[in-house]
Amino acid sequence: MAPLIVLDEVSKAYQPGGPPAVDALSLSVERGEILALLGPSGCGKTTTLRLIIGFEVPDAGRIEIAGRIVAAGRHFVPPEARGVGMVFQDYALFPHLTVAQNIAFGIRNLPPEERARRTQRALRITEMEGLGDRYPHELSGGQQQRVALARAMAPGYETVLLDEPLSNLDADLRAQLRGQLRRVLKKTQKTAILVTHDQDEAFQIADRVGVLNRGRLEQLGIPEEIYRSPATRFVAEFVGAADFIPGTVLPEGIHTELGLFPNPNGIPVGTAVDVMIRPDDVTIVPDPDGPGIVTERLFLGADKVYTFRLPSEVQIRSNQHSTPTIPIGTRVSMNASPSHIVAFPSLKSS
Ligand code: ADP
Ligand code: MG
Repeated sequence: MAPLIVLDEVSKAYQPGGPPAVDALSLSVERGEILALLGPSGCGKTTTLRLIIGFEVPDAGRIEIAGRIVAAGRHFVPPEARGVGMVFQDYALFPHLTVAQNIAFGIRNLPPEERARRTQRALRITEMEGLGDRYPHELSGGQQQRVALARAMAPGYETVLLDEPLSNLDADLRAQLRGQLRRVLKKTQKTAILVTHDQDEAFQIADRVGVLNRGRLEQLGIPEEIYRSPATRFVAEFVGAADFIPGTVLPEGIHTELGLFPNPNGIPVGTAVDVMIRPDDVTIVPDPDGPGIVTERLFLGADKVYTFRLPSEVQIRSNQHSTPTIPIGTRVSMNASPSHIVAFPSLKSS
């Protein structure tokens, strides 16, 4: 089946000739899929959603929704004719309207009975039954977030865009609502694009994740792929913790200070590379003759993250599960066994 949403080389700059907020962005979203666009503040996430719903006009490229071109060249379909709902980052609830009135606002053109039926349904789906008569200021942050979601769902559109939907909530609630948000979207068979700067949120809610950097899509894939086989150094560093150890490609593999690694991608012999090392891939043990010295310890509940320094001065982190504490300054030997070898051209050689 054809994808529901297609972006083809879409670009947008806010000032003519200025830096693009979205830069030749191409992606497609399947029916029923949840796609997360993940990236730091200012990378173009909100602009991408505004282009899809039709609040911004692209400078170049083509946007298709459900097989229909909604933006390309001079052709432009306005937001109200695109059939796309959106949850805004600040929720944008009307303070003087009740929860039910907020939800019904976007479907005010429907006959009253149908409007009431859909409002009730949206309240039920988002587990807000019984709160329809409250005003936004009488709700918790999590409840306000659910009203914003209910309002985006009420028109019954197939597509919902969510702009950092959980970012205004505190950490506990955010973690708790991820599962609920995914369940609601899946139960109602929505196609969704969620944008976030939070890797955990992207990984836990979405089916696929696209990583954005300065308006460009650096990689699009399932969470495991993004984490294990980052396509670029930016993705490696933005998604999870990553350290890099310099290496040289030899006929027998990639030689580094942490040992010899395989060279599965056939990087040419003689190339200077940096091999990505995730803290989960490294274990350390105290060893008076070991090459490393522990320089930092971070306590994370069940885990401890140690940083150790190698003779070359390179610092690497190691995630140790519930092992006895190793004091700072201890000499250690280490074992690094990445499940996937990821190597990028050395920054020094370029
Ligand atoms: P994100 O949502 O990922 O934080 P945005 O899409 O809001 O990123 O912004 C992308 C870039 O476009 C940023 O450099 C931002 O400063 C700029 N930008 C966003 N909105 C406007 C605007 N209305 N006018 C001018 N520049 C803007
Ligand atoms: Mg934004």
